[in-house]
Amino acid sequence: MAIQVKDERIDKINRQMQSKGYKLTVQREATVVVLLENEEDHLSAEEIFMLVKSKFPDIGLATVYRTLDLLSELHVLEKLNFGDGVTRFDLRNDNNVHLHHHLICVRCGSVDEIMEDWLTELEARVEREFGFQVLDHRLDFQGICHRCRKKTESEEAPQ
Ligand SMILES: [Zn+2]
Ligand SMILES: [Zn+2]
Ligand SMILES: [Zn+2]
Repeated sequence: MAIQVKDERIDKINRQMQSKGYKLTVQREATVVVLLENEEDHLSAEEIFMLVKSKFPDIGLATVYRTLDLLSELHVLEKLNFGDGVTRFDLRNDNNVHLHHHLICVRCGSVDEIMEDWLTELEARVEREFGFQVLDHRLDFQGICHRCRKKTESEEAPQ
């Protein structure tokens, strides 16, 4: 990620925190930077802690966990569970009001993301038919990714 983009996103998170009465302290910023640098990786709390610690050896586990909880409460982060019992964290995308979609491969465990909101028509229908205003949603697909499918195909192909 370009440094300028990263700075802008840190600024934005800083403003989000300030509007709720919190400060982006040095320790909190260290956690935010790790999340931004590994945005597509859906890291667990332990993985985030290890990465923060490699940059800031003095930081404690409790501090990082508290930061993750706070950022989740402020909806900067979203807690995800892909069915393996591990809580993972995802930064919410700037351009989308709603959470992006995930393609979870049951074979290799990879998680690809659909960054566009593909549910807007469905949301309109929910509102029409149920009078329900959709504020957010989660859509995770379980299946077999294109990489694994390709591998199977080439293994099954006649010699
Ligand atoms: Zn994601
Ligand atoms: Zn949506
Ligand atoms: Zn796969």
